[in-house]
Amino acid sequence: MRLSRYFLPILKETPKEAEIVSHRLMLRAGMIRQQAAGLYSFLPLGKRVLDKVTKIIREEQDRSGAIELLMPTIQSADLWRESGRYDDYGKEMLRIQDRHERDLLFGPTNEEMVTDIFRSYVRSYKDLPLNLYHIQWKFRDEVRPRFGVMRSREFLMKDAYSFDIDYESSKTAYDRMFVAYLRTFARMGLKAIPMRADTGPIGGELSHEFIILASTGESEVFCHRDYLDMAVPGEGIDFNDAASLASIVQTWTMPYAATEEMHDESAWNAVAEGDRLAARGIEVGHIFHFGTKYSEPMGATVTGPDGKEVPVQMGSYGIGPSRLIAAIIEASHDENGIIWPKGVAPFDVGLVNMKPGDADCDAVGDRLYAELQAAGHDVLYDDEDTRAGAKFATMDLIGLPVQVIVGPRGAKAGEVEIKHRASGERETLPVGDILARLS
Ligand code: ATP
Ligand code: MG
Ligand code: MG
Ligand code: MG
Repeated sequence: MRLSRYFLPILKETPKEAEIVSHRLMLRAGMIRQQAAGLYSFLPLGKRVLDKVTKIIREEQDRSGAIELLMPTIQSADLWRESGRYDDYGKEMLRIQDRHERDLLFGPTNEEMVTDIFRSYVRSYKDLPLNLYHIQWKFRDEVRPRFGVMRSREFLMKDAYSFDIDYESSKTAYDRMFVAYLRTFARMGLKAIPMRADTGPIGGELSHEFIILASTGESEVFCHRDYLDMAVPGEGIDFNDAASLASIVQTWTMPYAATEEMHDESAWNAVAEGDRLAARGIEVGHIFHFGTKYSEPMGATVTGPDGKEVPVQMGSYGIGPSRLIAAIIEASHDENGIIWPKGVAPFDVGLVNMKPGDADCDAVGDRLYAELQAAGHDVLYDDEDTRAGAKFATMDLIGLPVQVIVGPRGAKAGEVEIKHRASGERETLPVGDILARLS
């Protein structure tokens, strides 16, 4: 992409309304625009990051055996009356009427709808296990939408729903998602810590929130220092091997980790003082086993091996891709701007032509632009006639992992400079060596 033809509305001033660094940087880098309280447009640069984030989520969901579908954003109130949640959900739910005065709602989550799909088609235990997910916009009328896309009213969610014949196999479904989540967040350069979470009125043991430690997080969390150095399972992990999934989950739930609601002072005091980490955190994912909470009232049953009909065991598994973008920035930035981890950067390389119009600069810049793209890199090519200071400031602000800088003197000598955004490290290389260096 040539910057001269791109839409990248960089803000020079720091927006006053933004209280936390990720919100400030997303506005300044031209990634998002607020349209009304808690409602955001993703501008082209922000949309690219959102796509990278959802790509990683999708790959890891698919790898674990979950199957993607797409349900609508608008739902019928009648489904929610069946589960009893229409009255329970309260003011966070946006309720709508159509021209026939039928009650609709903008979905805050999809347990009811996916249970309806399941009960319409699946009859036998032989069709299980099944895990269906989608990546779709949700609406929750948050009391206090704030911090940009960190807590917005309309936000993107990946929500998966598992269906199993008995508790044992639904525990394996839970473990699959647990392991898929560890991999997903690690690929985004994040250390996400699974913490025991409140299961509310449903009870049971099986609920974990995945938390990123950050001083601006809204949750108070307590965990063992060991989590900071634990190794995430590799991509060869076998999602059909229930025993090895269970052992990974056991390893990852052994050290103490809990959010404020689940915090247990006596267990906490048993952790050596030097190993205690009391911090603030951002909830980026939440997994939950809830048994027959929806299948029973909604009549989602299957025939078991013994010929008896039983309500199916379910779990649900959420990740917030739009919130994740903010969380990644909270975890990875400096005073000059964002520092994107490789997998989620909007472009891989920022190619900077310091002097458009100069024959050497244009020749080298255009050549590298073509070669880098041909080699499969996403390149943002700054071919604009602007001041050097502004060019560098923009590149640092938008945080692409690598900058390739083409200046008139170097270009004449057949050399360019590379700057690594994260370390600030610079090196000068012959033009012909760039491709090999960046591969
Ligand atoms: P929170 O405690 O922050 O209100 P939640 O517990 O209500 O979140 P869940 O119902 O567990 O959220 O939804 C799954 C995921 O969706 C969350 O872990 C989070 O990543 C994302 N999410 C929830 N609410 C929002 C929001 N208002 N804006 C952006 N992402 C959100
Ligand atoms: Mg909430
Ligand atoms: Mg929560
Ligand atoms: Mg939650």
